[in-house]
Amino acid sequence: MATATLTIDLDAIAANWRALDRMSDPTTQTAAVVKADAYGLGAKRVVRALAEAGARRFFVAVAEEGAAVRQALGPGPQICVLSGHMAGDTEMVHDLDLTPMLNSVEQITRHLESLPGHPFGIQLDTGMNRLGLEAPEWEAVAALVLEQGPELVMSHLACADEPDHPLNAAQLAEFHAMTDGIGVPRSLAATGGILLGADYHFELTRPGVGLYGGRPWESAQPVVALALPVIQIREVAAGEIVGYSCGYTAEEPRLIATVAAGYADGLTRRYSNAATLWDGAVPCPVVGRVSMDLITVDVSHLRDIPRTLDLLGPMQGVDDLADIAGTIGYEVLTSLGHRYTRRYATTATRGQV
Ligand SMILES: *Cc1c(COP(=O)(O)O)cnc(C)c1O
Repeated sequence: MATATLTIDLDAIAANWRALDRMSDPTTQTAAVVKADAYGLGAKRVVRALAEAGARRFFVAVAEEGAAVRQALGPGPQICVLSGHMAGDTEMVHDLDLTPMLNSVEQITRHLESLPGHPFGIQLDTGMNRLGLEAPEWEAVAALVLEQGPELVMSHLACADEPDHPLNAAQLAEFHAMTDGIGVPRSLAATGGILLGADYHFELTRPGVGLYGGRPWESAQPVVALALPVIQIREVAAGEIVGYSCGYTAEEPRLIATVAAGYADGLTRRYSNAATLWDGAVPCPVVGRVSMDLITVDVSHLRDIPRTLDLLGPMQGVDDLADIAGTIGYEVLTSLGHRYTRRYATTATRGQV
């Protein structure tokens, strides 16, 4: 079999959720952000594991994502839609019992007119300038909206991954100014905000990336492993080239392994001549260009050629890979392709995969 194996540790996701939950006061509820197919890891399996761990409220980006989550969870858990209530969403919001986080006066009007009495939340902009009502808009509609009993009033921090950034305190102050005394559950913190401390927790936190083992929470349990099968081994003589555009020239005789995965699997061309694969604890440098389906690796120093080499695993996590590519762990995760054989590991199956 020449497809790479992506192993997703559902127990690690559940353990990360519990650990993030313990970081806030017991009266603060911990939700789970599962947008973009649970950061690329498969919403269906991930939300079931999180629900078993105790999560009762889930956030998706758009209503369509909510459909998959509702199907996996059945009735009961609350599914919040961060993009709010868009034209065309009404039937889905109603039929799947989604809770839109309304972002504008237009969305508030649409929601209250089309689905009176249906649960909703409000998203406020406290300085990120991306989504949500700004202070003057909120002031104009707050009384009317609060009469309708929103489930949640939330906002989002722009720089929570930088604890010393002055915008954190500024957004916190703005959130207080906009919401103190409203008597509605409030939420400001994603993963980074949880780490900023109790002042940022309010009644609900919304971790995403921390569940999946990414920064800024450095002590998250790693969740993903990616093993690429070795298809072929060849000896390359001094002066010979490897791969497209002669991306690598051997200065001395080398042993090159060709492994099955490439940029079509979300492994960016930036890994060309830059990333490292691992045979257990032994690093093997990528040589030459990453192509669509294949990567070439220098294995000259290995005594035995393994069946697979690890791109993600104990020696190299999503953020290590992100650093090599000049991006963030979020993008490494959500880029993971659809061609992998996906294995979901739990306590029962760990060790067999
Ligand atoms: C993505 C997102 C989250 C989760 O953020 P993480 O940094 O992954 O924890 C929370 N709230 C909103 C509004 C988001 O867009």
